[in-house]
Amino acid sequence: MSKFWSPFVKDLVPYVPGEQPKLTRLVKLNTNENPYGPSPKALAAMQTELNDNLRLYPDPNSDLLKTAVAHYYGVQSNQVFLGNGSDEVLAHIFHGLLQHEQPLLFPDISYSFYPVYCGLYGIQFDAVPLDAQFQINPADYAKPNGGIIFPNPNAPTGCLLALEAVEQILKASPDSVVVVDEAYIDFGGETAISLVDRYPNLLVTQTLSKSRSLAGLRVGLAVGHPDLIEALERIKNSFNSYPLDRLAIVGAAAAFEDREYFDQTCRLVIESREWVIAQLQAKGFEVLPSAANFIFARHPQHDAAGLAAKLREQGVIVRHFKQKRIAQFLRISMGTPEQNQALIDGLGDM
Ligand SMILES: *Cc1c(COP(=O)(O)O)cnc(C)c1O
Repeated sequence: MSKFWSPFVKDLVPYVPGEQPKLTRLVKLNTNENPYGPSPKALAAMQTELNDNLRLYPDPNSDLLKTAVAHYYGVQSNQVFLGNGSDEVLAHIFHGLLQHEQPLLFPDISYSFYPVYCGLYGIQFDAVPLDAQFQINPADYAKPNGGIIFPNPNAPTGCLLALEAVEQILKASPDSVVVVDEAYIDFGGETAISLVDRYPNLLVTQTLSKSRSLAGLRVGLAVGHPDLIEALERIKNSFNSYPLDRLAIVGAAAAFEDREYFDQTCRLVIESREWVIAQLQAKGFEVLPSAANFIFARHPQHDAAGLAAKLREQGVIVRHFKQKRIAQFLRISMGTPEQNQALIDGLGDM
């Protein structure tokens, strides 16, 4: 603490990201990155862009990428917002659309950045408990609120909410913005973007960090009614006019255009998930049903923190959350088949 800080800074509780170790030999299954590289076409597009033009500012509206995203999802360009990772997109959403008199609703077990943004922007929230099976129950959200946000599939559980259930939540709160954070939707879910033309209160966010293997490039997006997008553009243009650099714009656009590579790598991740789940169940783990690129599992006889430490000694890192309700779970990202084998070997006989 220092006398130079703005007063509110001392009360901030920042997000703690998963470890990014400097040791490269570790099997890194802790931050849900994609084990397969980005599309070769995305890499080639960025290499071409790596030239003297970098002295010039990028397009502040990232029109090339907006058009590619709009085309991919069958929406208009003015229904698309882009940001420096979906974390930045989410920050602008909290700031510009979720600050109201009634509390914001989100699940008690959810993306731990949500309460952090509430702290940053002074938003009051009400954490709605997941049911006993760790599922979102739409009926629990049918109460007065100043907005609703949840990941689908949820993180860190991996559990998917069916599109009809998402629609039920939208219908029950027509006067609130409902944000569906679809960071993991491509690994087995159905996007709610198909609903944006019918629900002017729906905003869907996605990221290129997971299914498009570009976590290092920092590109995220939101799709919704043009009035919602306009609020985000107003915030963005009052904060940073150039959130996406020249490489990010062309790389992300090329990644969206390479559907074949995308489909193939998503399929491999899904196959890995089924294999890892079967292996863990054979060792006695209880694994929540996952539609994501990670699984959430607990063992009835072994302490989760102890298991994470044991794996770490074997060079495998997984994520363990201290929050009481999930303290006996491990969140494990899907790796390559070799990495997944290292995980199973690292657990040994149980
Ligand atoms: C990874 C993740 C994000 C953030 O993605 P970035 O685009 O890398 O900032 C957002 N929401 C959830 C639920 C995530 O797991």
